Amino acid sequence: RTVYVNGDFRPENEATISIFDRGFLFADAVYEVTTVLEGKLVDFYGHMARLRKSLSELQISLSLSEANLLDIHRKLVSKNNITEGLVYLQVSRGPADRDFVISEDAETPGVVLFTQEKKLVDNALAQRGQKILTVEDQRWRRCDIKTVQLLYSSLVKTEAHRKGADDVWMVLDGEVTEGSSNNAYILTEDNTIVTRALSNDILHGITRQAVLQCARELQLKVEERSFTVDEVKAAKEAFSTSATGLVNPVVEIDSDVIGKGTPGEVALRLREVYLKASLAAAV
Ligand code: PLP
Repeated sequence: RTVYVNGDFRPENEATISIFDRGFLFADAVYEVTTVLEGKLVDFYGHMARLRKSLSELQISLSLSEANLLDIHRKLVSKNNITEGLVYLQVSRGPADRDFVISEDAETPGVVLFTQEKKLVDNALAQRGQKILTVEDQRWRRCDIKTVQLLYSSLVKTEAHRKGADDVWMVLDGEVTEGSSNNAYILTEDNTIVTRALSNDILHGITRQAVLQCARELQLKVEERSFTVDEVKAAKEAFSTSATGLVNPVVEIDSDVIGKGTPGEVALRLREVYLKASLAAAV
């Protein structure tokens, strides 16, 4: 595979970053994952807008323009012949003498991109529906910044896999925040889509924004509010959204079956409509 590192396209085994990079030592880095469908980038500008927000929260200044970033994304997709999959982009603060205090001197951010080929549309998990386990949300409380501090989510998702489940939904003060790498939704008995309101407790999903737009266009009722695990158990349907997961039905939570125990009608319809809309707008 060809990857991008600090200005150059290189074979992956020839790409290196400094061991003093603050991304490596302090998780002082942010990232974005942009989906590729039919060789095109889905919601590229949304992902880059969120990247800017994450960077500005951490006061990392990146000189690459949106046009530069689009060019790099496109070149990588083309060099690696990606038709379906993703582009991963990470920007770290860059190398500095190891110190908790971030140096005032201008550092050079470390920019890394790579691709992954992946089947996203014809996805077995989406057809079967996900089994979810709930865990306490023990992440730091700035989940709105897309940093590479993913250890807690990685550990609990791994544990869920060991127990035969597919993912976790995190619970903060009795209410669901989000999944390990996706936003969480239920469809109530009265056909209202409910998902947690935007705050520092969740990542502001680019797919969330697009899917809620689709839901409103389909005249579905949407409520942005917190919900409990008991509400999930009593729900008609549940699902998650993320760039690579698209709209992904949930059929079980903590071994309790949701609805009929099969992917819900509304979730599948939203998946279809979202896919069509995102493909039409892809760049
Ligand atoms: N929540 C978390 C914690 C995530 O890591 C992600 C994506 O990686 C999402 C939500 C979904 O965001 P998006 O739809 O922008 O992929």
